[in-house]
Amino acid sequence: MSTKGEGQRPDSAPWYADGLRFGCTASGRCCSNHGEHAYVYLMEAEVRALAGALEMEEGEFREAHTREEEGWTLLEPQGSSCVFLGGTGQCGVYEARPVQCRTWPFWRENLTSPEAFEALVESICAGAGCGRLYSAEQVLNIADSTEAWYAGELDEFPASAQVGTAPEAFPPRMAPKGG
Ligand code: SF4
Repeated sequence: MSTKGEGQRPDSAPWYADGLRFGCTASGRCCSNHGEHAYVYLMEAEVRALAGALEMEEGEFREAHTREEEGWTLLEPQGSSCVFLGGTGQCGVYEARPVQCRTWPFWRENLTSPEAFEALVESICAGAGCGRLYSAEQVLNIADSTEAWYAGELDEFPASAQVGTAPEAFPPRMAPKGG
């Protein structure tokens, strides 16, 4: 689990002008606390989607799985991991996972410098530097769309701005631990 991106969009060619590679290895490490990064932010549409996926009423879902903090609705973790993280490192609510889960690791805060990317992504995820090559334009689109989503500027999150985790490459999704 991690924080919502807050970095600034680069004015000139970014350090990742040649693109960045990323391929999900289903380690589950981005879904577990690392340092201060323990937040999954939920917009209203995400609460509805998760409640629907779990066949819960929205109020029931909020009661069971969220907390309010500084005006944000946050997914309540279970211990040091997301409550929906399965035992083999896979998301139990994959089809309804929140936007920040769809766009990691290409958040602005992770992209501010190679050092930031190393500290916030490469140091915890073996999939960084491997797998599909995302162009700088694609990376920026993902980062910008993530910011716009959490600023409430988008009605729907664009499919083109999601990081592919090739669900067909994974075994069937696991049931959530909670709910
Ligand atoms: S909702 Fe799924 S992808 Fe997001 S942190 Fe939880 S287990 Fe990970």
